Amino acid sequence: MMEQKRIAIYGKGGIGKSSTASNVAAACADEGFKVMIIGCDPKSDSSITLLGGKRIPTILDLLRQKIDVKEEDIVHEGYKGVKCVEVGGPEPGIGCAGRGIIVAIQKLRQMCKSIDDMDLIIYDVPGDIVCGGFVAPIRKGLVNEAYILTSGEYMPLYAANNICKGLAKIDTPLSGIICNSRSVTREEEIVRKFSEEIGSKLMAFIPKEQIVQDCERDGYSVLEKAPDSPVASVYRELAHAIMSNNSSVLPSSLEDERLRELTR
Ligand code: SF4
Repeated sequence: MMEQKRIAIYGKGGIGKSSTASNVAAACADEGFKVMIIGCDPKSDSSITLLGGKRIPTILDLLRQKIDVKEEDIVHEGYKGVKCVEVGGPEPGIGCAGRGIIVAIQKLRQMCKSIDDMDLIIYDVPGDIVCGGFVAPIRKGLVNEAYILTSGEYMPLYAANNICKGLAKIDTPLSGIICNSRSVTREEEIVRKFSEEIGSKLMAFIPKEQIVQDCERDGYSVLEKAPDSPVASVYRELAHAIMSNNSSVLPSSLEDERLRELTR
């Protein structure tokens, strides 16, 4: 039996982590893998495109209502059997996101025994690593592979670089960089260079295609709604690259001047 992959996708807010996570989940489900996606974002939109546009209640919201939560309340089956879970976030101004993730995932593990049977668990983690709280899933051993999503623009790369610093600090290797294109000039080259210079590798270059947003708006992944589109093949290749990836490195990070030079 293959070892369970538990991956987290980090990256600057708004860079497309949820859409990448859900398309990879769908592509792996197409290949017959048992997949669970755990959205850790207060917006709870990691799983929406695997559920035909349906929003599911978050674990933290249910726990706050103090009702007797059951597995079927928090684990919802979506496209090709992908198990979808949304952790949710703290109420604004109260509580800690990182702590919330831990509480919610402990609850999930108590209730959902089939979590151990999954081939792939994807944690869709919010924002940049701004503090120790966001690396909570890694620290607790819930994640065994970290990926960073970026584009070739300065700000997402700056965030990616910071995430590398954070990962190195907690002694966690990086398994690869994924480029979600914003149609920047020489973008693939920039992100490839960045990946190499921090000691990692570029897993995929996802072109900017309107069809991704169109499918998302309709509540579907590209794999489900437009499986014959070229970008669907890119997600398939990325899914394959992730499932067969067994190398990771402790990333180094770049000086800000070098980062600016790369993106100039
Ligand atoms: S920034 Fe860190 S400490 Fe603050 S809520 Fe988020 S995870 Fe918790």
